[in-house]
Amino acid sequence: MREFTYHRAASIADLSPDATIIAGGTNLLDLMKLEVMAPPALVDITHLDLGGVEPEGEGLRIGALVRNSDLAAHPVIRRDYPVLSRALLAGASGQLRNMATTGGNLMQRTRCPYFYDRRMACNKRDPGAGCAAIGGVTRNHAILGASDHCIATYPGDMAVALMALDAVVEIDGPTPRRVPLADFHLLPGDTPHLETVLEPGEIITAVILPAPPGGQHRYRKVRDRASYAFALVSVAAVIATDGGRISHAALAFGGVATKPWRDPEVEALLKGSEPSDALFREAADILLRPARDWGENQFKIPLLRRALIATLRDATGMETAA
Ligand SMILES: Cc1cc2nc3c(=O)[nH]c(=O)nc-3n(C[C@H](O)[C@H](O)[C@H](O)COP(=O)(O)OP(=O)(O)OC[C@H]3O[C@@H](n4cnc5c(N)ncnc54)[C@H](O)[C@@H]3O)c2cc1C
Ligand code: SF4
Repeated sequence: MREFTYHRAASIADLSPDATIIAGGTNLLDLMKLEVMAPPALVDITHLDLGGVEPEGEGLRIGALVRNSDLAAHPVIRRDYPVLSRALLAGASGQLRNMATTGGNLMQRTRCPYFYDRRMACNKRDPGAGCAAIGGVTRNHAILGASDHCIATYPGDMAVALMALDAVVEIDGPTPRRVPLADFHLLPGDTPHLETVLEPGEIITAVILPAPPGGQHRYRKVRDRASYAFALVSVAAVIATDGGRISHAALAFGGVATKPWRDPEVEALLKGSEPSDALFREAADILLRPARDWGENQFKIPLLRRALIATLRDATGMETAA
C-alpha cells in the first residue's frame, strides 16, 4: 500500500477534488492494498450527519452513511420496500454489511479479475491500456451494455433493487443536484474509467425513494455459493396485478450488465397484459435482444431468461415450475 494522508471531515465543506472519500472502507481499502487505487489523500466522511432514514414527501430519504445492515432491518424498508431489504441481505456477509454504507455501496467498483491484477491491461484502471478480459476469462462478465473497451459488470445488489424502486441520488458539492439512479451509473463506451456522473469533489448525501409502490416484491439472486458471492444474475421485481392484469411492472437486473440494468420495453409489454408463460417468454426475448456473450459467459443468457420468467411467475402468483 502506498502512503496517503488521512483527514476526518467535519463538514461537507472539508471535501476537496484532490481527496478520495472513505466511508465503510470495505471496497476502497481492498483496492488500495492491491494498489489498484492509490489515492494520495483520504477524507473520512463517517462523522458527517448523513446517517438517518427520514420521511420525505410520501417516500423516504436514506442518508448516505446508513449502513447496509441497518437499512435492511429498518421497519419501514421491510414493510414498504421489501425488495430493497432482500437485495441488501443477499449482498456480501453480515460483517461487511455492518460496515458498508449506502453511498459506498452505490460507488463500489467492478469485480473483474483483470481490474484487480495490475499486471493485466485494463482500460478502467489505466485508460487506453486495452482490455485483457476480452479474449480472456469472461465467466463473470457482462452480456448487456458492454463495449469493445470494457465488458465488466457492475457487481452490486442494492442498486438493482433501487433501480426497480425509481430511486434518486442526492449529490452535494459545487453543483448540488438530484439524479435518477437510472442516469447515475454510466455505460463504459470508450471511457470505462468514468463510472458515474459524480465529479471530483462531489459526494452522495442521500438516496431518495418515491412513495411505496405496493405490489409484490421479489429479489432473485443466482450465485455460485449461498454464503456470500456476487450475482451471476439477479432480478429485482415490483409487480402489481389488478383485475387479472399486470398494473405495475418495474424490473431491474444485476450481474449481467455494465450498470444496474432496466429495460422500459420489457415493462411496457407487461403492463396491462394478463400474466402467462407466453407473455413472460416474450418479455425475456425483448430483454435479451441486445445481449452479447464473450464465450465463457454465454450461460448467462439462458440463465437470465429463466431467472426473469421464474421471478415473474412467482410475483404474479403462477406456479413456480416453468
Ligand atoms: C468479500 C466481499 C463480498 C462482497 N459481496 C457483495 C455482494 O454480494 N453484493 C454487493 O452488493 N456488494 C458486495 N460487496 C461489496 C460491498 O457491498 C461494498 O464494498 C460496500 O457496499 C462499499 O461500501 P463502503 O461504505 O465500505 O465503501 P468504501 O469502501 O468506503 O468506498 C467505496 C467507494 O465509494 C466511494 N464513496 C463512499 N461513500 C461515498 C459517498 N457518500 N459519496 C461519494 N463517494 C463515496 C469511495 O470513495 C470509494 O471509491 C462485497 C465486498 C466484499 C469485500
Ligand atoms: S472488462 Fe473492463 S475492468 Fe475488466 S479488464 Fe476489461 S477494461 Fe478492465
